[in-house]
Amino acid sequence: MNRDRLKKLVEEKRFIPGIYNYCDRWCERCPQTSRCLKFSISEEEFSDPEAQDIRNEAFWNKLSEILGEALELLREAAKKWEIDLETLSSMDDIEKMEAKDKDADNHLLCRAAKSYGKMVEDWFREREGLFLETAVAAKEGVNLEEAFEVIQWYQYFIGAKVTRAIRGKIGEEEERCDEFPSDSDGSAKVALIAIDRSISAWAVIPHYNHRYAESVLEMISFLDRLSQAVEETLPNARSFIRPGFDRINP
Ligand code: SF4
Repeated sequence: MNRDRLKKLVEEKRFIPGIYNYCDRWCERCPQTSRCLKFSISEEEFSDPEAQDIRNEAFWNKLSEILGEALELLREAAKKWEIDLETLSSMDDIEKMEAKDKDADNHLLCRAAKSYGKMVEDWFREREGLFLETAVAAKEGVNLEEAFEVIQWYQYFIGAKVTRAIRGKIGEEEERCDEFPSDSDGSAKVALIAIDRSISAWAVIPHYNHRYAESVLEMISFLDRLSQAVEETLPNARSFIRPGFDRINP
């Protein structure tokens, strides 16, 4: 994609600014693909079969091509608004950022959220045979395949979003800015939605076979406690309005 095409696309009115900041990146299931700039760029860039293959060199070449164009646009915008990009991050800032990343990584909530990914991994590894039973379950009216898909989509996403939320909260406490909605609340909201959906997906499994009920309940209870902890730590997260996804109540 050349710079003019990218510029033209960016200016299209149909796109909701920042919609992709608080989504779950599950584009195949997203109801707002037509309003998402990120989706449109990737569709235009990777729609031919060769480029769709992530292992194909063309994928990475195209990605760096977009990066080059995006950086060029950034430089143009900085020039227009008289922002000196060189002075934006000093070594001091970088060190501070690294320290905050470390604090977030060590935060109890982040550790718990990340451990969920491993718990899911272990749960499925111990019950590998269950993957072969999805057709039988479907005949019995239980959509195990979809439940697995949901659980596995969010398995690491939850840890990543909770960490981002905590990382943001640490930063916001130091550099309070009320002018913009809080990114930490937005990230926490997406994490909470992912937790809610994961709980619903786990709850499907015992409908197929009751012998999974106990281990499933453990997972649900873990997620429920995680959700409560996220809400206690970031009490405004649920009311965060995600551009394109949440409505502002009158
Ligand atoms: S907003 Fe929707 S289409 Fe855009 S990146 Fe997120 S999930 Fe994908």
